[in-house]
Amino acid sequence: MVELRYQRQAELIQGWDQDKLSSARIAFIGSNMHAAIGGSAVLGIGSIEVYSDASYNKNSNKFLYINSDGEANVKTLEDSLNTINPSIKVRGIYRSMEYERDAKILGKPSAIIETTNDPNSKQICFEYAKENRIPVVSASASRTQGKLMVYRGEEIKEEFLFPEYENYNSSPVPECVLSGLILRETTGLIMPRTDEENLDSIIQYNQNSPLRFLHKPVGVKDEKEIIEYNLNVANHFSDKKSDKIIDSFVIPYLSFTKPSKLEEIIYNKKVLMIGAGGLGNYCGWLTTNLAKELTIVDDDVVDETNLNRQIFFCFEDTVGQPKAQKLADVLQKLDSKTKIDYKIERVGLDFDFEEIKPDVILSCVDSFKAQSLMNYHAKKLNIPLVSGGVTSDKRGRVATYFPNINACLDCQLRIDEAAIREYQPQHCNLAPTPSVVTNNILVSGEMMGEFPSLAKANVYQKILRGALQYDSNFSSRVGLMPTTQECNCNGGEEKWLKKMEKLFKE
Ligand SMILES: [Zn+2]
Repeated sequence: MVELRYQRQAELIQGWDQDKLSSARIAFIGSNMHAAIGGSAVLGIGSIEVYSDASYNKNSNKFLYINSDGEANVKTLEDSLNTINPSIKVRGIYRSMEYERDAKILGKPSAIIETTNDPNSKQICFEYAKENRIPVVSASASRTQGKLMVYRGEEIKEEFLFPEYENYNSSPVPECVLSGLILRETTGLIMPRTDEENLDSIIQYNQNSPLRFLHKPVGVKDEKEIIEYNLNVANHFSDKKSDKIIDSFVIPYLSFTKPSKLEEIIYNKKVLMIGAGGLGNYCGWLTTNLAKELTIVDDDVVDETNLNRQIFFCFEDTVGQPKAQKLADVLQKLDSKTKIDYKIERVGLDFDFEEIKPDVILSCVDSFKAQSLMNYHAKKLNIPLVSGGVTSDKRGRVATYFPNINACLDCQLRIDEAAIREYQPQHCNLAPTPSVVTNNILVSGEMMGEFPSLAKANVYQKILRGALQYDSNFSSRVGLMPTTQECNCNGGEEKWLKKMEKLFKE
């Protein structure tokens, strides 16, 4: 009998094997990537070890340190993980990988997850893993960038050690993007599914790059080949051939760019976040670090089957209580600088935006109907919108709309038609499968990676010229689908209402 909290993923997702996850043991080297460590716990990975000798203070915005009152370290993290999922085994070990002999303590885990910015630590882990045939998911992050690869015992190359990240600090947004990818690769190693391709490149995330994600095929130095690879990624995600523009976007951004001012700004913005579920949990957390005010709107209550992905409801008993309120409570406890408010309400056609007067809307809602409604409101009120969507455990998408700058979500992605299709009776094989913590974390990180644009379009970073796509089965995982940048929907409110009549007449 599957525990109730895992029921959605264990019973509704084809090929999911909760027993394999429960009997796995993984070892994190480095304690920075809280979304990946916490995500492994809510997924139900049976035994989690975290090795680190780092200490933090309460203001570091590391959410697993929420209950510490001062200095926090890997032992504090152990307590936190025990709280969010009491049915797994957790060990926090105060140690780093400095000498070859240090790795012996790891034994033979199902996977090693090396998340430091220390090339020496990576080298030690790879050598140990090669000798003992253990796969390694390796990731590093700076304040605006991140890098990830899976090491499977091949000859260790300098480029595997991500030396350019040494001595840089990381920020929650790239950490969150990387965490989603870490969880994808880690669960893939523990619980391989037949329709999935192995990751075949080093993935680079860069908030300053127009493509956001770049891929570096391992060992390839030829620029043409690298461009070709990235073009293939864009083509995979597009129905039409991607334009030449990709060429000029790849090479300049493949190398490490020095962190920009981007990360140091606390934007003087009022954020309205619709949805406090899988996406809202992580977007809410990331917003606390970035904005002045946050209002969370959701009419739902916490259900036990949410606890496999909505991590902020796992710190205390929240089942049956309003999501918006509980999320606001826990986030306010984490961060006292951002003013956090909530409304227990469903956003409909007549939602009162005047009362909140948001500068920015974060759409963290599941259905296309709700996404179409957010697009409608954003257009009508001239408010920038970032919209995240997870349609199954294997997919995710992020798109942005800036009034008078790019096209609305309907012109970019035909979101209104998707909403209407969603409401037509479906054959049960086509019914959507539930999302998991993996793509919720990835998509939330990607969404908040667009926040500098939302705060001021094209000033801190160039706006997205398409939609960020995630496809768990595809060997490159993530990429940009170019979309039209011109809005052609001048039909106005009345026409939209007519089109959507059936959906919104309740
Ligand atoms: Zn439009």
